[in-house]
Amino acid sequence: MPPAPAPSDVPSDPSPETRAESSAGAPAPPDPQRVTYPDPAAYRTALAELRGLPPLVSSDEVECLRHELAEAAEGRRLLLQGGDCAERFEDCASDAIAAKLKILLQMGLVLEEIAGRPTTIVGRIAGQYAKPRSALVEQVGEHALPAYRGDLVNGADATSDARQPDPRRLLRGYARAGLTLNFIRALLDGGFGDPSHPDWWRLHRRRGEAIADLSAPLRRYEALAAARIDRGRRIVSGRPLARRALFTSHEALHLDYERAQTREVPRKSGCWNLCCHLPWLGARTGGIDGPHASYLAEIENPIGIKVAPWHEPATIVDLLERLDPRRIPGRIVLIHRLGVEAIADRLPPLVAAVESTRRRVLWCVDPMHGNTRTVLAGRRGEVKTRRIEEIVAEIETAFAVHRRLGTVLAGLHVELTGEPVTECLGGVSRLDEGALERDYRSPLDPRLNDEQSIEVALVAAEAARA
Ligand code: PEP
Ligand code: MN
Repeated sequence: MPPAPAPSDVPSDPSPETRAESSAGAPAPPDPQRVTYPDPAAYRTALAELRGLPPLVSSDEVECLRHELAEAAEGRRLLLQGGDCAERFEDCASDAIAAKLKILLQMGLVLEEIAGRPTTIVGRIAGQYAKPRSALVEQVGEHALPAYRGDLVNGADATSDARQPDPRRLLRGYARAGLTLNFIRALLDGGFGDPSHPDWWRLHRRRGEAIADLSAPLRRYEALAAARIDRGRRIVSGRPLARRALFTSHEALHLDYERAQTREVPRKSGCWNLCCHLPWLGARTGGIDGPHASYLAEIENPIGIKVAPWHEPATIVDLLERLDPRRIPGRIVLIHRLGVEAIADRLPPLVAAVESTRRRVLWCVDPMHGNTRTVLAGRRGEVKTRRIEEIVAEIETAFAVHRRLGTVLAGLHVELTGEPVTECLGGVSRLDEGALERDYRSPLDPRLNDEQSIEVALVAAEAARA
């Protein structure tokens, strides 16, 4: 973990009015994702309380991440960004957090060992609590209910009570993000991630298999982990524990929440979002004149931009100019999520358009969001799923296209969990549609389970090395 916030890094809180204005002084554009709270006074009180709470991360950590992302954009480092589609408050539990941290570290190990580059790990964790819905209303039987908007806003249960936006959830979400991050920092500071803890590194053998019985990708992983553990042992005893950093990220969706944690910092210019290191602009809120882009244009953090097949390359170029006029190294992570069917057509013009500006961005592939399919899963009815074979094919195509065009693909963005869920099909877990009923837990998009995550990391690592 990066160092905890330094005592000097005590942010001041510019007035909400100041923060809601763009740097040009124009009023912020209206937000179509804005939540209407039934009790506006309670909402204002919750935001005021949030503004008074200390930040979750420090601007020094944010700068450290930006520096690492700049290295990755130059091809000297890799970025792994992963975690839940939508975190639930109930995910703030020790087993779930440790399992997620473990799988991210294991994937990082795979990338480092095979691709031979240090890897920066950024979790979709400790704050990914607000999710956009394409529809604001959900039809449940006869009833039209307000849609579930993420635990930060309302409850997932299909009742009108649960679906009422509740401002106290903003404070609960903030507290849970803090508790999650605190546990991650404690684990990492205590040596979780050091090679002297082989238990963390070995795959848990769910069915008690011997290594020889594991599938080929998992055997490969075990060999890589054994090599790292062995190297760790050979280093003289008494060395300090190897400390890893884990940075946090979430989609900057609930703008009042983000703004309540956007601060000025002594001796630094600009405003910093201090409730995560890396906020990103979702594909559905990515309009150049939209409120989300306006907000992100005004903060100093590195930011992710999701690029979908429906985005025109020229629009993305305009967005880059809007969000990074000063061309700050490490500022932009361009996360393309084009889907296996569109990537070969859509990626080359996007790369050409960005290259023509001579900007250096960190290119990152999200092989999940363009490959979502809806299928019938027995008693569960319709569920979203993704096929490992398509995820793998998109990763391989992405690396091949970038290589052909002379750009560096240095990032992988995935939705995953450390638990043995059955949400994505195929791959090393050999899950078929019948398995979706067995252990499907995600409230939104399907995630890679632990084995599938290792498998995908191996594919990306090989492609990054090639
Ligand atoms: C997501 O990252 O969960 C998501 C909704 O992605 P996108 O904005 O790319 O559709
Ligand atoms: Mn998602």
